[in-house]
Amino acid sequence: MVIKVKLTGHCNCGGVSYSFDGQPALTAVCHCKTCQRQTGSYASLVVGVQDPELKVLGETLGTFITQGDSGQPVQRSFCTRCGSPIVSRCDSIPGLAFIKAGTLDDTSELNPTAELYLDDAQAWTARLGVTCYAKGM
Ligand SMILES: [Zn+2]
Ligand SMILES: [Zn+2]
Repeated sequence: MVIKVKLTGHCNCGGVSYSFDGQPALTAVCHCKTCQRQTGSYASLVVGVQDPELKVLGETLGTFITQGDSGQPVQRSFCTRCGSPIVSRCDSIPGLAFIKAGTLDDTSELNPTAELYLDDAQAWTARLGVTCYAKGM
């Protein structure tokens, strides 16, 4: 049985919103330094979803490209008015979009199943008891 879910979310100013209707692939905590810098936090909680089923709306959406450690680009989209990070796409992982989970309207069902880039994790963080990767998956 395929369990479909509907996810919706938006940035802090409401200029960018999105919806997803489908089956999320994973929920992960990414500790990489680039996510730390983008979010200003110790890590980034992301939900990986099938990109074609994700609809992002809003004229204030901007994208900044960083380089992943695969050497391939990572497109980090955010609201250019309020700065909220919204979604990232890794060229090395085609077909998936990674929603920045803190922007979801409802976070009550989130349940991380992986931690990524433990090599960059801040020393005081505790492991979640899920599959851990030193770098990406
Ligand atoms: Zn905004
Ligand atoms: Zn990251």
